[in-house]
Amino acid sequence: MKRVTKRVLRTQSRTLFDLRFVRVKSSVDSAGSGSSATESEIIDLTQSDDDVSVAGPEIEVKLDSSCEETEEPEPKVEPETKVEPEAQATTANKPARKPRVMPWFKKLAFNGITVSVDCFNCDKEPDIDLYFLSHFHSDHYGGLKKSWCNGSTIFTSIHTANLVKWKFKVNQCKVVGLPLHEWTSLSENLRVVLLDANHCPGSVIFLFHDSGDNSYVLHTGDFRANESIVQHVNAFLQGNKLQSIYLDTTYLNPHFRFPDLQKVCDVTADFASLLVKKGLNNFINRANKQRSISQYLSLSQAKPILFVVLSYSIGKEHLAIAIAKKINSKLYVPHTKYQLVKQYLSWFPEDLVTTDHTSANVHLVSMHTDLDKYLSQLSDSVDSIVVFKPTGWTFSNQYDKSYMLWEDAQREKCVRETLESDTPFTVDHFIRQKKSQGKIYQFNVPYSEHSSFKDLCFFSTSLMWDKIIPTVNLSRYQEMQHWFNIWKSYQKN
Ligand SMILES: [Zn+2]
Repeated sequence: MKRVTKRVLRTQSRTLFDLRFVRVKSSVDSAGSGSSATESEIIDLTQSDDDVSVAGPEIEVKLDSSCEETEEPEPKVEPETKVEPEAQATTANKPARKPRVMPWFKKLAFNGITVSVDCFNCDKEPDIDLYFLSHFHSDHYGGLKKSWCNGSTIFTSIHTANLVKWKFKVNQCKVVGLPLHEWTSLSENLRVVLLDANHCPGSVIFLFHDSGDNSYVLHTGDFRANESIVQHVNAFLQGNKLQSIYLDTTYLNPHFRFPDLQKVCDVTADFASLLVKKGLNNFINRANKQRSISQYLSLSQAKPILFVVLSYSIGKEHLAIAIAKKINSKLYVPHTKYQLVKQYLSWFPEDLVTTDHTSANVHLVSMHTDLDKYLSQLSDSVDSIVVFKPTGWTFSNQYDKSYMLWEDAQREKCVRETLESDTPFTVDHFIRQKKSQGKIYQFNVPYSEHSSFKDLCFFSTSLMWDKIIPTVNLSRYQEMQHWFNIWKSYQKN
């Protein structure tokens, strides 16, 4: 879920750029890292993702807090949209703040029990019995802190529970991590099951079942819909219909057609593998000419290629994992980021993650990393680095709102064609880019952890439901209702 207000605020702050040399202490958990990081000095060249105030050019080093900010890039959608009240805490010196009322769509009322999903920055409401957190992105956990005590229990996934406890050290309420794919009883008549949301590590969707009236309610949080999610939901519904779906409508816009997430990961990994096998230099130098891939990739590298995947604190891991597995490398995570990664280490393939930079040709580092400095510190072992920057899709027509005026017949045609279409994605995507900055070769990757328009169409036409409630861009609720009606018509087919 995104708020444009947050983006505006973020641009007003400055980011700490610091170059770090960290000797890994023996206390760092290397058991799960699959490396002997303890005996070697690790060059930690990452920069903090924290927003900090920087008075001057001095470099401030904050070794203990560099993993705190947990953000993902803002989707480039509907910049005029503003659907949620300002949710950030005020400072102590400011005058009394306005009441922060919980938005209606964050409250789910069942028989005798009401729960809240992803709302921790509103005033305490006595009718809320339980709180749920779908994943560890700050626009969902915003408001949580050590002393947060609006409710007695927060339910979330096991990995997100680890992250919450690690970051906030909450002591006024219980944080309960639930396993996936198991019903958990919440009250006499209410139970919940958590399913992987295919968004970021630890992200889940919630399926509630109220036995009082045998109703099922699905809350997707942020999610990237796929066949697996649909299958799991249908398996737990056992032929029942969903009373309502609280849906991540971030990309509910027919112009947002980006390729399948798995395909993007696979093709990017294939491209990396090609570079390893055939060499980087010739490819880069001739990439603008109309020649075949095999002609581009004819020289071998003198030194191994280092692949760098840029990420925010949590998210984009799928891409780095795919590349590492394809080229049989470990995945290096800097010491500072490792403090966070440690909370969901078991989410990664076994023995993949290491804090020893010398043992991996794939590095997962902060989006704010100074790549020139990064390369210079590693110049003994690598000549150049290939950087993959996960971005949203580049939509030339993203601000084209003419579809909002479409008649239903045109929308129906659009949904039908979208469901039958495929967004191609091949290594040509990378060959076209050739974005070299000296010895740094950067490629944008259309990697989205939110559902595309097609994903939303597929998801909502594959399930039986009565009502969809959007959780993003609510100012377009009426317009979105046209899509919901069309999706619903598929239930009769
Ligand atoms: Zn998210």
